[in-house]
Amino acid sequence: MLEMKHIKKSFNGQEVLRDISLTVEKGEVLSIIGPSGSGKSTLLRCATGLETPDSGEIRYTGTFGLVFQNFNLFPHYSVIKNVTDAPIKVQKRRKDEVYQEARALLAKMGLSDKENAYPCQLSGGQQQRVSIARALAMNPDILFFDEPTSALDPELTGEILKVIKDLAAEHMTMVIVTHEMSFARNVSDHILFMDQGYVELEGTAEEVFASSNSRIRGFLGKFE
Ligand code: ADP
Ligand code: MG
Repeated sequence: MLEMKHIKKSFNGQEVLRDISLTVEKGEVLSIIGPSGSGKSTLLRCATGLETPDSGEIRYTGTFGLVFQNFNLFPHYSVIKNVTDAPIKVQKRRKDEVYQEARALLAKMGLSDKENAYPCQLSGGQQQRVSIARALAMNPDILFFDEPTSALDPELTGEILKVIKDLAAEHMTMVIVTHEMSFARNVSDHILFMDQGYVELEGTAEEVFASSNSRIRGFLGKFE
């Protein structure tokens, strides 16, 4: 589904990604963990074309959706318009069909009664569920999340993690940057631990959490 090979990226002479390679298979969940500043967001931005790597290769099949930490909803659009805008304008799909699908997605996200609300009238958790519905409305083959719960209060974090777990159960292909360690452990087929622009460690969730690598132990220790 996604293959990145030997990706390098520098900003102002500082190497932020130093030869990163990864593969995501269809239906797989890959979580990317690691300290702040290790290059996780830059890697996602390269994967999704928001940033151009200095060198390396990126190949993917189909289309992707992206869910950000800060929701990035259009503040002047209602919920339903946020969800339907790109499928109608970018994908040129039929309006009635897009609306029908959007309403089904909002129902799935528990937001049926909010379709005419504006983002500022919603809780952070509700805004993030709208942003997930918006990403899903494009029928993506792969969904990228960049710290989807970092801007949320702890009590709202659970509702977003539940939505992502449900998508995993439906075999949605996902790449998730997260600081939620028990969630990453439960939901991921593979985990990639980044440190200072390198992939320090990569493996199944069990392998990574059981690893004796001192950097991962030090990192995971901060969450205990
Ligand atoms: P993470 O998501 O793991 O916290 P980032 O990918 O956001 O890390 O950042 C990695 C490094 O790259 C940081 O030192 C950050 O300051 C730098 N960086 C990221 N984006 C830019 C940019 N557009 N211009 C300059 N430096 C950047
Ligand atoms: Mg980041």
